[in-house]
Amino acid sequence: MKHDPNCLFCKIVDRKIPAKLIHNDEMAIAFEDINPQAPSHILIVPNEHISDIQSMKEGERELIGHLFFVARNIAAARGLDKGGYRLVINNGRDAGQAVFHIHLHLLSGRAFAWPPG
Ligand code: AMP
Ligand code: ZN
Repeated sequence: MKHDPNCLFCKIVDRKIPAKLIHNDEMAIAFEDINPQAPSHILIVPNEHISDIQSMKEGERELIGHLFFVARNIAAARGLDKGGYRLVINNGRDAGQAVFHIHLHLLSGRAFAWPPG
């Protein structure tokens, strides 16, 4: 499994940095965002280090799809599906990606504007 010892989210996957874990399985973990932008702001992160969407390999289709199923299951378990939620991947500098380990933001608990800022 690809791993970057300098990557913040690899360190969270390895439990070297603490996080409020919500879910973990053989492919992904989910934890509370440290700087929440909504009443519920959860990050879903593959255990394997993939820096961004452009770096995805064909063999990682199932892994990337799994992130969405984890989001859907967390939303259902927490009742976030009732009002709705937003799933976001910031990819690259102009999109505001700060951590270069793919992650899916699950935001819920308020209404979100469109178009995004
Ligand atoms: P992005 O800008 O899409 O790369 O998102 C990175 C996210 O990681 C931001 O929403 C940060 O608040 C969040 N974040 C940064 N450090 C931590 C941490 N130690 N634990 C949890 N979330 C973090
Ligand atoms: Zn990483």
